[in-house]
Amino acid sequence: MKNAIRYSIFPKDPAAHLFEVTVTVPAPAADGQRFMLPAWIPGSYMIREFARNIVRISAEAGGEPIALEKLDKHTWRAAPCDAALTVTCEIYAWDLSVRAAHLDQTHGFFNGPSVFLRAIGHEDFPHVVDIRRPAPPAGKGWRVATALPELRAKRYGFGTYVAADYDELIDHPVEMGTFELLTFDAHGVPHEVAITGRVPNLDDKRLMADLKKICEAQIGFFEPVTKRAPMPRYVFLAMVVGDGYGGLEHRSSTALLCSRNDLPAVGGGHSAEGYENFLGLCSHEYFHTWHVKCIKPAAFMPYELQGETYTRLLWLFEGFTSYYDDLFLVRSGVIDVSAYLRRIARTINGVLRGSGRSKQSLSDASFDAWIKFYRQDENAPNALANYYTQGSLVALALDLTIRARTKGRKSLDDGMRALWRRCTEGIGEREAEDMFEKASGLDLARFFEQYVHGTAELPLGELLAPFGIQVNDERKAGKPSLDVRAVRAGSDLRLAIVYEGGAAHRAGLSAGDLLVAVDGLRAPADPAGLDKLLARYAPGQNVAVHAFRRGELMAFEITLDPERAPQLALTVQEGQNSVASAREAWLGK
Ligand code: ZN
Repeated sequence: MKNAIRYSIFPKDPAAHLFEVTVTVPAPAADGQRFMLPAWIPGSYMIREFARNIVRISAEAGGEPIALEKLDKHTWRAAPCDAALTVTCEIYAWDLSVRAAHLDQTHGFFNGPSVFLRAIGHEDFPHVVDIRRPAPPAGKGWRVATALPELRAKRYGFGTYVAADYDELIDHPVEMGTFELLTFDAHGVPHEVAITGRVPNLDDKRLMADLKKICEAQIGFFEPVTKRAPMPRYVFLAMVVGDGYGGLEHRSSTALLCSRNDLPAVGGGHSAEGYENFLGLCSHEYFHTWHVKCIKPAAFMPYELQGETYTRLLWLFEGFTSYYDDLFLVRSGVIDVSAYLRRIARTINGVLRGSGRSKQSLSDASFDAWIKFYRQDENAPNALANYYTQGSLVALALDLTIRARTKGRKSLDDGMRALWRRCTEGIGEREAEDMFEKASGLDLARFFEQYVHGTAELPLGELLAPFGIQVNDERKAGKPSLDVRAVRAGSDLRLAIVYEGGAAHRAGLSAGDLLVAVDGLRAPADPAGLDKLLARYAPGQNVAVHAFRRGELMAFEITLDPERAPQLALTVQEGQNSVASAREAWLGK
């Protein structure tokens, strides 16, 4: 590999959270080689400016220092030189998320975009990286987990790994440390789960059995005949913390962040709902292996990582993935139909809670993800549409519409497989809509106009009825509410969200206000305590509320509302056989 771009990454000072990263270009550009660190990581649509974590940077060639000129916030140009050019960076890695890098004495984790400089003009050459063990005493017993192919390294060992190009190099997160390693096969493809962080009495057999079912169901979904997966191997990298949640998809792996109590314990003892959420997260990121890593918006071919890349299709790539993540839990049998309906009901209740969906279409929400969805503030529920949750309900509505109108001959599944069959080309901004029409044989123009490009309410109750599923609102009529989301702030209760049009909004309360008293009684610091206090009143009653804002005591007169947060529940109505079989065709037996 004469022209390969060579990298090394070394946990230089784990206690100071510093990686030392080098890149060597064998034949640097004659007019001065340029290097750039990405501003964002694919899958997470926000400018993160990873270059801000570069603490030191220098260059040398043939043993001589070479001047580096900084051209903008994340681009450097080395002075022209004849020999192989090496740039060395020290990078601060203390971001406990799935998006950047994290290093201490117990483990190291990194995503390529946050640590590997791109050698501009050399992106298409092979990229080789030497992953180095930290100096003792750190690094004892450490192994390496990544889906990057080994070049000169044993599996799970330190050494050199190889990628066909820069794009592949940065699409393989790496974990190093003393993680627990689980392995299973799904349709002949080796799968690994590397778990970092202590999990007492982990029920690894159950976790592997459940993941295998989900993975095999998805492989069989996209390739019903061959059962062939698009990746030679798949790695789940899970960082376990006290309280956390997140995931990021890659072509043959995923980085996950989860809460300890969400992982199954031998003999139970974990949170059943938390475990469902964790399996849902795994299912979500796994589905992305096809849907966004292979099937992509044309705008992402190739990814331009120096600045925002706009697409109106996140409702399709995130929303539809969010629909199928839960659907595969029930289709693969790891949850039952009633658990699935509870999960859908929770999604519907979340979507209906905010009024933002009447102001922003999902197409606009996708386009503006960079400045809105990824930068949410206290006003988000009043201003934004959520292309994940609401997008998943659009997928649900589309699936049910196609199934009902074709009398069960077609479904959204046919549309997804049509997208998959031509995944080598990018999907144009309005192209998927045509493909769903072709795959179903239906005119769906009005559907997309209303629910993707417009802000019409989805008629979910009507759409679910032919499948024997009834929607009931279980809200208690007599329960009064301020229509806020309140959180504990030390010994105070702080308003985190004030819902537009609700009792608190009409009375003039704001997000950030600290509640002092309700009707002359001290406001409890916990939200449940506030609910209990309010339960003594009836909707329509007026109460005095006192709150601090900017340290000033303010008085408000509030007319209590009946509870506005929807509490829809979905239940199966046993009925005709044809209804039951339509439901089984959708959800599995
Ligand atoms: Zn996603």
